[in-house]
Amino acid sequence: PQLANQIAAGEVVERPASVVKEVVENSLDAGATRIDIEVEGGGVKRIRVRDNGQGIESDDLPLALARHATSKIVSLDDLEAVSSLGFRGEALASIASVSRLALSTNASSDASAGVLAESEGRDQVVAVRPTPHPQGTTVDVRDLFFNTPARRKFLRTEKTEFNHLEEVVKRLALARFDVAFSLSHNGRVVLNLPVADSTAAQQRRVATICGPAFIDQVVHIDSERSGLGLSGWVGLPTFSRSQADLQYFFVNGRVIRDKLVAHAIKQAYRDVLYHGRHPAFVLYLTINPALVDVNVHPTKHEVRFRDSREVHNFLFSTLHRALADVRP
Ligand code: ADP
Ligand code: MG
Repeated sequence: PQLANQIAAGEVVERPASVVKEVVENSLDAGATRIDIEVEGGGVKRIRVRDNGQGIESDDLPLALARHATSKIVSLDDLEAVSSLGFRGEALASIASVSRLALSTNASSDASAGVLAESEGRDQVVAVRPTPHPQGTTVDVRDLFFNTPARRKFLRTEKTEFNHLEEVVKRLALARFDVAFSLSHNGRVVLNLPVADSTAAQQRRVATICGPAFIDQVVHIDSERSGLGLSGWVGLPTFSRSQADLQYFFVNGRVIRDKLVAHAIKQAYRDVLYHGRHPAFVLYLTINPALVDVNVHPTKHEVRFRDSREVHNFLFSTLHRALADVRP
């Protein structure tokens, strides 16, 4: 089982950033409204995520850390099968298999009633014992890849790993204005984002994440047509950003990267503004979930639209109109 977990971990836990993604998504799944992330050494040394979600019942705790489909993998030859199974119910077990993990949780409002489970590079929980913890969950991941030196070799510098990790937090924070987030690195607060429950508050969060210069030079988009919705912000040509790093596109709340989407946006820019720079945007598409496949793979952010031509037309025409309105 440890081998199987480490194989799965190779697919789902690439670097500290992937740990944060999985753990924070669990917090969001648990209905958390506040998520605090503390990181040391780019996340390799330590990642601690605390949430105020519903918590895990103590009886369910060993199960939460166990791999659900262990019996399906017997050897390395089954690696293909692992990828085709997907990773549902495998993230925590995978992380546990390549780190020193401590999970404290409390599913009740009695703060003295928490439980703590620890494991060290294996799927068996070493110990479950009572611990005081407010309602919610704290996942503490230390020494990532301490027992898989081959994988550790692929890690980059502390700064690079932290940049990846911060990017993951930014995406999640842009996707969930209704949740407060904080992120600190080596004891220094990097992001502090209160719940953003108005357009003004959302713009403040976007300014914090994308820089104040962005929000001063944007067109606000808010458009709907036959079941498709597009909202958010696109940068004016006065906002120049030479890299392609200020491009956030969400489909039904999930961040995606897609050629068709990128093409539609770029074309609208070129048509109206005649400039070849990378457009900057934070955009949210809403679409009937039946007409889209998001997250075909857990770590690639792919999307498949049933009617891609309609989506392309909608994006292009909405942005074209909005940009033409503000054309200098
Ligand atoms: P999955 O999210 O696919 O179910 P995970 O390995 O990520 O698999 O998590 C296993 C289980 O542990 C979850 O289904 C959930 O029941 C529980 N869990 C994990 N993190 C939390 C959390 N922060 N709050 C509440 N429950 C959690
Ligand atoms: Mg999960």
